[in-house]
Amino acid sequence: MKKFSFIDFFAKAVATIISPFYQMFKRVQKKKRTYHYDLALKSRRISNMSKMKDFAQTHWKIGAGVLASLVLIGILSMSFNGMLSASPVAGEVAAVSTTGVPTAASSDGETAAATMTPYQQKIVDDVKLYMQASLPGFAITVNNNEIAFFKSSDDAYVVLNTLKANFKETDKIYTNVYYKEVVDVVPTAKALAVRSKYDSSEESLYYITKGTDEQKIHEVKKGENFWVIASYYNVGVADLIKANPDVVPERLQIGQQISLIVPKPLITVATVEMATYEEPIPFDIEYEDNADMYKGEFKTKVAGTNGQRMVDAEIYHENGIEVGRLVLDEEILSDPGIKVVYRGTKDPPPRKGTGVLAKPTSRGVVTSEFGWRWGRRHNGIDIGVAIGTDVKAADGGVVIFSGTKGGYGKCVMIDHGANIVTLYAHNSKLYVQKGDKVFKGQLIAASGNTGVSTGPHLHFEVQKNGTPVNPRNYLKF
Ligand SMILES: [Zn+2]
Repeated sequence: MKKFSFIDFFAKAVATIISPFYQMFKRVQKKKRTYHYDLALKSRRISNMSKMKDFAQTHWKIGAGVLASLVLIGILSMSFNGMLSASPVAGEVAAVSTTGVPTAASSDGETAAATMTPYQQKIVDDVKLYMQASLPGFAITVNNNEIAFFKSSDDAYVVLNTLKANFKETDKIYTNVYYKEVVDVVPTAKALAVRSKYDSSEESLYYITKGTDEQKIHEVKKGENFWVIASYYNVGVADLIKANPDVVPERLQIGQQISLIVPKPLITVATVEMATYEEPIPFDIEYEDNADMYKGEFKTKVAGTNGQRMVDAEIYHENGIEVGRLVLDEEILSDPGIKVVYRGTKDPPPRKGTGVLAKPTSRGVVTSEFGWRWGRRHNGIDIGVAIGTDVKAADGGVVIFSGTKGGYGKCVMIDHGANIVTLYAHNSKLYVQKGDKVFKGQLIAASGNTGVSTGPHLHFEVQKNGTPVNPRNYLKF
């Protein structure tokens, strides 16, 4: 006796309406969201407001759905009560599932029966039946937790095999590929109210590799880099790099999609690769004492050369990241050549003034003397030298200035004691810092053409009690 049953029809309709909303409660995080922001709206308060707005936009459907269901149930109850109370129509309970379906409607409606018509009772029972009905399938379990749900065990193994294949390269030899967790495929069943569909292989691969099914995407805007994006979302730049292994941070394109999900894989695929490759053998360094050089000075006598070896090794990866390697065998192709370095043993001269100044450069002639020229006073002497010529301390002392000083350009000043200070101007490079103690003849700078200068030269100045005096009174050129 197979009659069309209104009751079945409406019961299923109600259950069908309720079920997806129930699922939305359970799996609301499935929502895909794209995050946009305007740099002008960076304040925390506005950001919180937009988060609330975002939440409301995501969840209003659930509220509206539940409300609609309640209203519908109310209308159905009232209309059945009025229209059909006197004419019972027996409907057949449609089998919703092949497993776990109770054969009889539940009979715990005793108290409710007093106030409900048989037809209302039937609706309630059918809805209950629908809620209890289940979907048979197979789950992938990780350490006994179900993480994905499929129609057949084959579907589950396809996902697992794809996962393994993702971490293998075709031209390499693997002696072992395994999971670090306990991974199984087990038969199971899900209540229809909880799951009405199976996972696709795409969804489950995303879930397994990211540790979440949430997708947060940021679209790159003009002028943005990883640092800007990371600080906006309050994540680390390193995490952002981890979340986007295929993105080159230096080459972001406007409109490019950046994932904000830092992966926390649920399954770790470990591989053992057998490899044979050549690699350099680094050279050792040997020191040879040299009494002609000052302590702290080094000079290469013989340049080192790397050797070469062929190795058989096991290389271990976890989810594509190398975690170690073990050399099983090696064949030396060429030995490394030792690098020999002279090491100075002579005590450096005292790092204080001797009272006698030496020339600051070993070459060069004086191109401009101390004193009045072209109506202006020249506070030092100019020594014509090519850019990059060694500039040496005229006497031992303490560096009291090293940096850029107005028209002097890159400049060093040394206090030699006894109120004598020397100044070296227009350099291209400075080798000492303020506070350094230097000895007479120590390299302090490379000459240049910085500051107000009419060509490459060293401007050398001697100051006594803060006043420039003629350097020629202190040294011979
Ligand atoms: Zn000068």
